[in-house]
Amino acid sequence: MDVYGIVGNPVGHSISPPMHEAAYDALGIDATYVTFEPAEAEIEQAITGADALGVAGLNVTIPFKEDVFEIVDPDPLAARIGAVNTVVFPEDGPPQGYNTDAVGVTRSFTHHDVTVADTQAVVVGAGGAGRAAAFALADAGATVHIANRTVERAESLADSVAGATGGGLDTLASTVAEADLLINATSVGMEEDKTPVDRELLHSELAVLDAVYTPRETRLLRDAADAGATTIEGVWMLLFQGVEAFERWTGETAPIEAMDAALRDAL
Ligand code: NAP
Repeated sequence: MDVYGIVGNPVGHSISPPMHEAAYDALGIDATYVTFEPAEAEIEQAITGADALGVAGLNVTIPFKEDVFEIVDPDPLAARIGAVNTVVFPEDGPPQGYNTDAVGVTRSFTHHDVTVADTQAVVVGAGGAGRAAAFALADAGATVHIANRTVERAESLADSVAGATGGGLDTLASTVAEADLLINATSVGMEEDKTPVDRELLHSELAVLDAVYTPRETRLLRDAADAGATTIEGVWMLLFQGVEAFERWTGETAPIEAMDAALRDAL
């Protein structure tokens, strides 16, 4: 039986195990997907140990995405993002790192028939999810503006993303009006019923993706629906980053419907 898993701390809340196990069941793959919660100081031993023990593949979540980036051999996209959420252990050579959150963003839009190329996109947030979203959207042909609470983080990210601009949350007032795509890549909306974007700024020409997936329907998405915008729940991003990881590990086409159903059951 192949062993896959997710490394995080804490990781008990993760709903990746049922999503991936549903995929193994659907395709008759003899595998299991478990959670690993190493101490923060022991992440390097955890990755090296997993490699030595023959673990087939790992996802990586908070707080380890940047640490694991330093340990594995990242692909070019993960290297630009500076964070790894998926590790592949080849038979020979060092563990390989990928960032499938990026694909999760673009596939969430295309799955909803929203075009990314030649659009204006506003990414709110410049942490791990914001970095993945900014590079993914720019690579797919969007012109990206990054707005972040800590202005320097947005500006420094914008400097490394082709054609991007960056600024504080106050820049939302001038950029969202012209935007086609809006992504919340902050944690605002998760703990409290709050939104990082004033509802008056939202409009019917927008497609809005909220990376926050608990709750599924955030205040931002409710406001966006009221404004007539297309709304995309964060669970889609979670699904498609998992689909991409599954396909990298197994080489099989992921059973998307089975994975989606398991995720929605678990939420
Ligand atoms: P992170 O690296 O810690 O970044 C957090 C971001 O949120 C930063 O931009 C931070 O701004 C901003 N922020 C935090 N509190 C804020 C507040 N009160 N007001 C304004 N901005 C605030 O976290 P992350 O990994 O990027 O995750 C961000 C969110 O995306 C989380 O909710 C996570 O669950 C979600 N996520 C979802 C998926 C998915 O598949 N759906 C994947 C990855 C992440 P500063 O820079 O100013 O601190």
